[in-house]
Amino acid sequence: MSLDENWFTEIHHGTGSAFSLQVKGKLDEEQSPFQKITIYDTTDWGRFMVIDGCTMVTSRDNFLYHEMMSHPVLFTHENPRHVAIIGGGDCGTLREVLKHPTVEKATQIDIDERVTRLSEVHFPELCESNGDPRAELLFDDGIKWICEAPAASLDVIIVDSTDPIGPGEVLFTPEFYKGCHEALGQRGMVVQQSESPLLHMEIIEKMHRSLRKAGFDDVRTLFFPQPIYPSGWWSATIGRKGGKIEGFREADVEQRPFQTRYYNADIHRGALAQPEFFKQAVAGWG
Ligand code: SAM
Repeated sequence: MSLDENWFTEIHHGTGSAFSLQVKGKLDEEQSPFQKITIYDTTDWGRFMVIDGCTMVTSRDNFLYHEMMSHPVLFTHENPRHVAIIGGGDCGTLREVLKHPTVEKATQIDIDERVTRLSEVHFPELCESNGDPRAELLFDDGIKWICEAPAASLDVIIVDSTDPIGPGEVLFTPEFYKGCHEALGQRGMVVQQSESPLLHMEIIEKMHRSLRKAGFDDVRTLFFPQPIYPSGWWSATIGRKGGKIEGFREADVEQRPFQTRYYNADIHRGALAQPEFFKQAVAGWG
């Protein structure tokens, strides 16, 4: 919804808040078989993608999300070789994953090919690693793909999905987490964007309970800023098989052979620090 023609506004219903960006114009709009995808040019945030009226990605702040969805888990797993990205059609997470020299194969499974094709046009910098021989781009339903994946075939699963409404809803179900658990090898890890700790604790609680029920031995939520998402404070929740989430390959982070703009060892440690209200809530979830 727009306040006037120069502003895009997403109202966060039920929260008494909204987020706006000043736009210069609409560059593209498509109704795919799954969702409505709109690309704007903005005055100060570069290109801006919206799916079904929800903010997805801007040129200016996407590095926060893409780095935090990939580097903490990849530097926690001892030797991540096989990675799956469920959703992630803008390809920014794939680009970060492929920066890791241990990764031999990264498969991205997004339900909607149009998100990727529009990203190639409007966010070419996010798609610059799509031609990497280790990258495989598939267009399919993530839950179907995960449930059909050979047992113990993956080291890390990154769920870079839309919100739990529309086609993304199935990616927040116990059935999906069970599929992830089976597809992961020993000490395998899944990470999923888990919305705002300020506004969506019920989603995070459900995720913690479902991951535990699916058999994950350790479950942790990490926090990071994300200006364009509701409340500006975002989270990702990690589940791990047969191992702890605390602790990571700090020496490898220090000597990483690539640049990051947000992520480093201090950010990793800080992102895992649990705010008091969150700690108390988790204790109540058993
Ligand atoms: N960073 C964004 C956020 O948190 O709002 C997510 C961006 S990414 C563009 C989300 C992607 O999830 C979309 O491209 C969408 O097509 C994909 N998606 C939604 N449901 C899916 C499903 N069931 N299987 C695979 N991909 C799905």
